[in-house]
Amino acid sequence: MRVIWKEGELLFRLDPEDEITGKASDGHPVKLATNTCHLSGVPGDAHPDLFAVAAWTVVAPWTRRRITFDRAVSDQVAAALHDGWGIEAGPVGAEPRPAGPVLAISYSGGADSVAAATVYPQAPLVHFQRVAHPRVPNRWPHYRSDVLARLARQTGRDVTVVQSDLEYTLAEPRPGYPEHQAVAAGALLMADRLGLGGLGFGYEMGSRWLGGGRYLLRYTPDNFLWAPHGAWGRLFAAAGVHIVLPVGGVSEAVTMRLAMSSELKDQVRWCLRGTDGPCRTCGKCLYKELIVAAVERRPLDTPITADRPVARKWLKPPPYGGQEMIEYGLARVPGIENTLFATALSHLRPTEESTSWLDRCYPPAIDEIPERWRQQAATFMAEHVGHMTEAEARRVETWGSAVRRGADA
Ligand SMILES: [Zn+2]
Repeated sequence: MRVIWKEGELLFRLDPEDEITGKASDGHPVKLATNTCHLSGVPGDAHPDLFAVAAWTVVAPWTRRRITFDRAVSDQVAAALHDGWGIEAGPVGAEPRPAGPVLAISYSGGADSVAAATVYPQAPLVHFQRVAHPRVPNRWPHYRSDVLARLARQTGRDVTVVQSDLEYTLAEPRPGYPEHQAVAAGALLMADRLGLGGLGFGYEMGSRWLGGGRYLLRYTPDNFLWAPHGAWGRLFAAAGVHIVLPVGGVSEAVTMRLAMSSELKDQVRWCLRGTDGPCRTCGKCLYKELIVAAVERRPLDTPITADRPVARKWLKPPPYGGQEMIEYGLARVPGIENTLFATALSHLRPTEESTSWLDRCYPPAIDEIPERWRQQAATFMAEHVGHMTEAEARRVETWGSAVRRGADA
């Protein structure tokens, strides 16, 4: 792979051994559509390691053996690419970039990201906004990225919006991030300007420790994507921008509760359709409705019926992505046995007791926040959430064994 940056314009050329079909770090297959993309408003003189890591968030799935940058990178970044992916990176020769003093939040406007921003009320926000690609047709006009950007600006926080068409580098499965970390490409290129030493993401306990949504259903202390000692964590750290997960120790029930009670609650938006509010009819809205209903302890309120395509997976037995939250919702939503979640309920039979660990913070998640920002998160969690007991922490650490037994039964 060869990478060329011209200001915010990224051009990459595949080497003979590279392929246009690849896998993202979460194992999901992706197919390349085009080899250019653009990030607006970013400086042309950012540290070379920042350009390198930003490029890697886009080109990683298609790179097989080596990557050649248009400017020398540091030893540390080359080593992180080699150790994490087995990739030969060069040329090497830049001084490493020291971490700056500032933690920013990579802010999407969803409940998890709002919760992360609530832990650090002084942190500036960096918002990634999808814009159209000049050479790729937009088959997703219902995706209202303009609404999300407007909501981000309405938070009253220090917000940097970086517009990009990088999601159109993907032909399949649809426009989206080639790697989850591509959402940070703009923040990386802004890191010198903002003085960044850390970037906070809204990934919660399910994503960090339980294998997350569509991924593995097992305890994942060495998570390749999000652990500080994982490949991505080490690569970001090598460029002086530590990955920080302020809400990595709490479930989506807690992030939802924190978001809905925060001063940013009017700007929370997890659905990318709809202009005046969530569409209520997509799969994501259904999943979030289960969580909100559980947090508010009220019956499910959804127009989605069992004959709709988005309901199909709930008519099948587990396992489900995000299953810990399904169990949490099933145990708490009144009348759930009369909804399209009845099948899931009959298989999982969770109780409030069996899911109460999802109301507390998993302490190792605080321990892995870099020291400079750790105490603030620890204090926040002690005041607003509370820490898990050892027995509850064991529920995290044995997650997956019970799920797999359930799936085998
Ligand atoms: Zn929706």
